Amino acid sequence: MKISKTHDIYTMDQNNEPVAYAESGDTVIFETCDCFHDTVLTEEDLVSQIDFSHVNPATGPLYINGAEIGDALKVKIKKITIAEQGATVTAPGLGRLENLIEHEETVIAKIDDDYVYYKDLTIPLNKMIGVIGTAPAGDGIATGIPDDHGGNMDTTMIKEGSILYLPVNVEGALLSMGDLHASMGDGEIMGAGMEVQGEVEVEIEVVKNCNYKLLPLIETDDLWITVASAESMEDASDQAIKNMVDFLQQKTDLTFNQAGMLLSLAGNLRVSQIVNPNKTMRMELNKRYFV
Ligand code: CA
Ligand code: CA
Repeated sequence: MKISKTHDIYTMDQNNEPVAYAESGDTVIFETCDCFHDTVLTEEDLVSQIDFSHVNPATGPLYINGAEIGDALKVKIKKITIAEQGATVTAPGLGRLENLIEHEETVIAKIDDDYVYYKDLTIPLNKMIGVIGTAPAGDGIATGIPDDHGGNMDTTMIKEGSILYLPVNVEGALLSMGDLHASMGDGEIMGAGMEVQGEVEVEIEVVKNCNYKLLPLIETDDLWITVASAESMEDASDQAIKNMVDFLQQKTDLTFNQAGMLLSLAGNLRVSQIVNPNKTMRMELNKRYFV
């Protein structure tokens, strides 16, 4: 099953009409626009010309039959396919250098299977999903904002081969995603990655009665990663750390103190992004400690 990018939404909202239905265990392909709704195609297309009512589109939502409030949605990212060209932008007021930027500028880059060709440099390809989430309980949340439901987390570890666990806050979960990047550095300091159109193939599974209260959570071959978003980096960090301590206490015999000390010795607190309306931090811990 493939969901066309013509099904673009700008809020993750329980009132959004599902555009497709899946069963637990199904594989689904989401075709996605880039974060500019595919409008930045040449270096003459500048930030000031972008329609900001149509930025950060997500494709969906997908209703998953049998997903109930309190379950988790396990999203295995099987394949990310991206276009052969991407765009990144800057403009006064954007990102961490905001007041120092004197003029707006767009860079278009060619992309192949190994690299992003940025000016005369090559950047190793690092395909990832910027926006992915379920519908939150209560009011909808703009797709540009990351929060407990996922959303605009801009987390480099949400990539091919990773498994993302998201909360099911409403019946059917209502999964949507978009904002692919060909590469992005942790922090996304100017506010944009190498923004690119593409497709994401995911396998979806409903995990019943998963009241962790610590989602979103990422699993890779080697790592467990808790992800949290909040108004400040400190608050996001504290939440990601607390969630990893909770997770360790659920999965091991470590006490609260011992779990905290383990993170102090072997866990890595990392920046996902510090340019969106909420900041996103993550706590990474090697799976070897979950025994
Ligand atoms: Ca983003
Ligand atoms: Ca982006």
